[in-house]
Amino acid sequence: MRFFRNVVLAGVLAIVSGATVAQERLSVVATTGMIADAVREVGGDLVEVKGLMGAGVDPHAYRQTRSDIVAMTRADLVLWHGLYLEAQMEGFFQDLSRNRNVVELGAQIDAAVLRGHDDYDDKFDPHVWMDPDLWTLMVAQVETALSATSPEHAAVFEANAAAHLDDIKALSTYAKTALATVPESARVLLSAHDAFGYFGEAYGFEVMGIQGISTESEAGLNRISELVDLLVARDIRAVFVETSVSDRAMRALIEGAAAQGHEVKIGGELFSDAMGAEGTYEGTYIGMIDHNATVIAGALGGEVPDRGLNGRLSAGF
Ligand code: ZN
Repeated sequence: MRFFRNVVLAGVLAIVSGATVAQERLSVVATTGMIADAVREVGGDLVEVKGLMGAGVDPHAYRQTRSDIVAMTRADLVLWHGLYLEAQMEGFFQDLSRNRNVVELGAQIDAAVLRGHDDYDDKFDPHVWMDPDLWTLMVAQVETALSATSPEHAAVFEANAAAHLDDIKALSTYAKTALATVPESARVLLSAHDAFGYFGEAYGFEVMGIQGISTESEAGLNRISELVDLLVARDIRAVFVETSVSDRAMRALIEGAAAQGHEVKIGGELFSDAMGAEGTYEGTYIGMIDHNATVIAGALGGEVPDRGLNGRLSAGF
């Protein structure tokens, strides 16, 4: 009986201390899935992270919901990408940062490594996650923000960040190797919007989007017919759709090319501004980029392992 009581007591204590640990966890809200993933990697068990934008959500168009606002007001730390990615939330974050712990990660990155924006002279291309080498700078900023918020855990954040940065380096090497197998004449990436500028610079691809750097404005008919002519003239045979952007314009493009007797196929679906479903490999930053590099290289005539870098991609090629 006494033994039993002790076991029960131990159980109760475990629950109580578990609850205490849960309460002490740093609560972080991140806008994009990519940032939430970095927080999860760097923060480990010490943080509880809520990502506002799930699979298939377009950050250029996203507006904060009522429950987002509640979560952000209660959080110990709020991280947003910035660089005009969350275009509809700029004003909200400016207000929030007056009295809450809010960090615009992109603003901490040296502007010299950023690409200019097509539409605005004073803005930059926000899609830095497309080049793993650049993404390491954002992960380092996540570490800085977590350590500033919870200095007593700085050593753990530093160790976690170092381990994650090693994984990103391996990803970068894989992507370079895989994409270098694409024949030079086929290194053209046409997708729904201009999310792949950094990708193009990193891997020597010419990239073009039906829409511009933001998805805010619809592509005009002129843009479509211009791209149809280009597909035919350059003999481009595969184009790519994106999980967070409608594929309507892409279908018009393919039909337009077909009307000129040029067959174009959809090379695959890419994760441009949102990761895959939560709980899947593609729902992590590493999995997202592994998927993109593998799909692009595979569809454009390169040689890639069937299931990507880690053998974990859900679809074979
Ligand atoms: Zn975008």
